[in-house]
Amino acid sequence: MATSESSPDVVIIGGGFAGVTAARELTMRGRTSVLLEARDRLGGRTYTSDHDGHAMELGGTWVHPLQPHVWAEIDRYEVETETFPVLEGLRQAVVSGGRVVDLSDDDVARAIDALGQYCAPGTTLFPEPYTGTWGPDPQNMDARSMRQHLETIKVAPKLRDWVEGMCCVTAFGPIDQAAATELFRFYALSGWSAEQMLAALSATKLVKGTRELIDSIAAQARLADIRLNSPVRRITQNGKQVSVELTNGDTITAPTAVITLPMNVLNTVEFDPPLSQIKRTASAERHAGAGMKCYVRVKGDIGNVAVMAPEAQPVNWVVTYDHNTNGSWLIVFAATPKRLPMSSFDDAAGMQEALQPLLPGVEVESIHGWDWSNDPYALGTWCIYRPGQLTQVLPEMRTAEGRLFFASGDSAVSWRSSIDGAIESGYHAAQHTDQYLTASGHQTLSPAGLKSPVTA
Ligand SMILES: Cc1cc2nc3c(=O)[nH]c(=O)nc-3n(C[C@H](O)[C@H](O)[C@H](O)COP(=O)(O)OP(=O)(O)OC[C@H]3O[C@@H](n4cnc5c(N)ncnc54)[C@H](O)[C@@H]3O)c2cc1C
Repeated sequence: MATSESSPDVVIIGGGFAGVTAARELTMRGRTSVLLEARDRLGGRTYTSDHDGHAMELGGTWVHPLQPHVWAEIDRYEVETETFPVLEGLRQAVVSGGRVVDLSDDDVARAIDALGQYCAPGTTLFPEPYTGTWGPDPQNMDARSMRQHLETIKVAPKLRDWVEGMCCVTAFGPIDQAAATELFRFYALSGWSAEQMLAALSATKLVKGTRELIDSIAAQARLADIRLNSPVRRITQNGKQVSVELTNGDTITAPTAVITLPMNVLNTVEFDPPLSQIKRTASAERHAGAGMKCYVRVKGDIGNVAVMAPEAQPVNWVVTYDHNTNGSWLIVFAATPKRLPMSSFDDAAGMQEALQPLLPGVEVESIHGWDWSNDPYALGTWCIYRPGQLTQVLPEMRTAEGRLFFASGDSAVSWRSSIDGAIESGYHAAQHTDQYLTASGHQTLSPAGLKSPVTA
């Protein structure tokens, strides 16, 4: 068993946006760290994949100026963004009553009103969405699923089906397992506006991909030793230090650790002493996000189109990514992958069948995607809580345990489930770790101690 020679101030577990932000923020505070990432790349649940001439985002993609933490990073590193219209200039449709119904501009406006009706409780439940303050909840909305709340809105069937599709795409799992409050939260964070919420969730992306942003942050983490291909299997803490054991048997010790494992993955690492009961139970229950996002190449010019579909359909949203006469790329979202009549990303015929109710006659050529729910280092997609988890789980997921500090897009205060939330949580975990180290007498490096930039 190898043991590292010099002990860093902090061991960071995980190299997604939370971990890499923590590494940079610790550097800014003069703290050394070793960042251990299981994969052969940084980014975690963001993954820019070069495919067919495009920088395709197989995971986290969309960002927005309403998301303060990620937007500050975009501004800081002068990362180029591009915005697509989500409501205008494209054919909007919904699958309703078993057929595709085109939506006029007036229909789209009514669909947004219906979404606003669904989200209205967010006004009182999230009076200060950026502080995580929870308003009065006399109707116990926290215990309500998206499916249950959907039954309460009174709108025309095609609008209801559109809102149901929106619930599916947001939950990215069965909507009876996702908390109704999750959509209220996004609505509140978007200025209590359904229209702004659509823009925040699916309009603006990074031209060269999320890879450019995370690489920019990592390049400034000069006091971090970033190690890829370094899966962790055990984390032990005693009164003096934390020992982190890798699957290859190497051990790294430090006075503190920042844990950025996804909520669903926490239980795959052994903690001694064990983590709190709430953290372990939450990880075992998992959050509800377990859908499938992929890119699908189809024959011909499909035009600029967005079709929503309710839960009974195997695909719940398809939107054009790129189109010309040589063929088109679509982005496909399926909230419940087991409904898909396809066996793998090689199964173009299965995807073609799944898309027929939304785009009749479409001919699928190939698929490009990533199976996040069966990826051992993700075990799910973005974090959408189950009913009750917001109040019973969230505060504890951020709570430090001894020398362990926690950060994740899955436990952020405001834009949880997003890149913004991961950055927010990484920032705060670094701040709290630094304060702990200072309080326990660990000196920071002088600026002269700064090393040259670290390459992953
Ligand atoms: C399909 C999909 C679409 C999404 N769309 C959007 C979107 O449009 N906009 C948006 O803002 N967000 C989106 N998200 C959510 C966003 O990607 C995440 O919230 C964010 O990236 C989480 O960052 P993180 O650092 O907290 O976690 P992660 O990115 O999961 O990072 C955790 C890291 O820990 C590593 N790890 C796991 N186990 C071990 C171990 N044993 N040892 C060492 N390392 C380990 C993982 O490999 C990973 O790199 C999407 C996510 C998915 C999956």
